[in-house]
Amino acid sequence: REDLRHFLDSRWPEPEPRAGRSRLIVLAGPTAVGKGTVAAHIKQHHPEILLSVSATTRAPRPGEVHGEHYFFVDDAEFDRMIADGELLEHATVHNAYRYGTPRGPIEKALAEGRTVLLEIDLQGARQVREADPSATLVFLLPPSWDELVQRLVGRGTEDAAERARRLRTAKSELASQGEFDYRVVNDDVAHAADEVARLAR
Ligand code: 5GP
Repeated sequence: REDLRHFLDSRWPEPEPRAGRSRLIVLAGPTAVGKGTVAAHIKQHHPEILLSVSATTRAPRPGEVHGEHYFFVDDAEFDRMIADGELLEHATVHNAYRYGTPRGPIEKALAEGRTVLLEIDLQGARQVREADPSATLVFLLPPSWDELVQRLVGRGTEDAAERARRLRTAKSELASQGEFDYRVVNDDVAHAADEVARLAR
């Protein structure tokens, strides 16, 4: 059993109200760690926090609503958003579709004193760090490597080759957790969500 706890560096602070960090919170972490579930929990239980809605070139899944889960756009529109400087960051994720964070709603909410949460990939987190060094970067960890593998297999949305590829990516993503201000272990969704939300105060 390969346990991830040895990755945890005891010098890192437990999540506490950010010292010298901004209200722009980035939640990132390896594939299948449950970022989306934690973000959805925060959206439901902490309505004071704005969950950013990204633009993407992928097609909507059943039940996904334009403007609520994503802004579903074509490649031409995504290019236009980049050209017009409308995206705070953007990246191609899993070698497939493009995803980006609209700048406007974030700037407005921050100006109003609200906390903004971005649930994005590692490439995006690095770009936000570049654009705003005071952003609060949170890395979501699985309780263990076995647990991460179980979650990826369990959700059954990827075939074996794609799962193997994502697990390789996950290994290298886990190695980057030192770039983050905080790490939160997703052993329980409500608990992890509350730890992230505490940073909003
Ligand atoms: P999905 O297609 O399953 O909704 O999301 C796939 C991946 O895209 C997730 O890892 C998610 O964190 C990432 N993602 C979603 N929105 C953005 C975004 O605006 N920017 C970046 N860089 N990644 C994003």
